[in-house]
Amino acid sequence: MSWEPLRQRQDKVVKTLTNSIKKNRLAHAYVFEGGRGTGKMEIALQVAKTYLCRVTQDANPCGECKDCRRIDSQNHPDVHRVAPDGQSIKIDQIRGLQKEFAYHGMESDKKVYIIEHVDRMTVQAANSLLKFLEEPSDATIALLLTEQKHRLLDTILSRAQLLTFTPLPTAALIASLQEEGVSSHMASLAAALTNDRSEALEICREEWFAQARDKVIQLTEELRNRPNQVLVSLQENWLSFFKEKEQLDYALNLLLIWYKDLLFIQLSEPEHLVFADQMQALEQQALHISQKVISEKMRAVLTAKQRLGANVNPQLLMEQLVLRLREG
Ligand SMILES: [Zn+2]
Repeated sequence: MSWEPLRQRQDKVVKTLTNSIKKNRLAHAYVFEGGRGTGKMEIALQVAKTYLCRVTQDANPCGECKDCRRIDSQNHPDVHRVAPDGQSIKIDQIRGLQKEFAYHGMESDKKVYIIEHVDRMTVQAANSLLKFLEEPSDATIALLLTEQKHRLLDTILSRAQLLTFTPLPTAALIASLQEEGVSSHMASLAAALTNDRSEALEICREEWFAQARDKVIQLTEELRNRPNQVLVSLQENWLSFFKEKEQLDYALNLLLIWYKDLLFIQLSEPEHLVFADQMQALEQQALHISQKVISEKMRAVLTAKQRLGANVNPQLLMEQLVLRLREG
């Protein structure tokens, strides 16, 4: 279980951690701060493995021993995970953790606890955790994960080493999706929609998203080539496919990306295209349309997105949108 794939995603964080591991100087507590999908939990589990694996070599856990496998299957007795119970992390959850830690480890004294969304602790829970952090045991490591560092108590921050996780650059995300066997056009589309690698992978693997992509391309073709039929095809091909509000929102996002691509064609910046495999269609559509009109169309899509959020009837909303997109 090498650190290498994680290092490609979070170079600085992994270098800091592996250096400390090699020198046997891991801190008692870390705050992992960064957006969703930046690999905080993956890296936390890798720290736990490195710390508990008995055959760790050159800072890399073996990935095969009992300890490593139990961490993978989330049932290692000395690795504790806490996450919000509903809206918040309650004091009983922190107390439970402390109780667990009062016993000696099952097989060694080493223990690791990981708290997800640590910013969502109640005041009582935060104070209880603070006491816990003030009396560190030599063999305990706390990994506190958060997307919102500013919500943490200064007193907690001051007792932990802060590591900042950076969002994955789009190009790196696309490359890592392609390594999983995803086609380049789906990889760039997913990366345009989310920065979260696992969410992106889900988008690429579900057939529905590929079909949705085709539907959106089809709609733009019809708007240009058969504008009089577009309302009919909306009924026949579109509304029955994008039934849920979330699905329709996704379709509108794709439409926005399409118009952005049209702008990139006009600016002669094809390297930024998301629908890169649709070059011919994009070029044709970009031919007789001004940048001003493209931005008006984008504004119309954005308005439709807002109206969707305000629960306007989807059929009405789409009909009004295509009528506006048909102009110009
Ligand atoms: Zn191992």
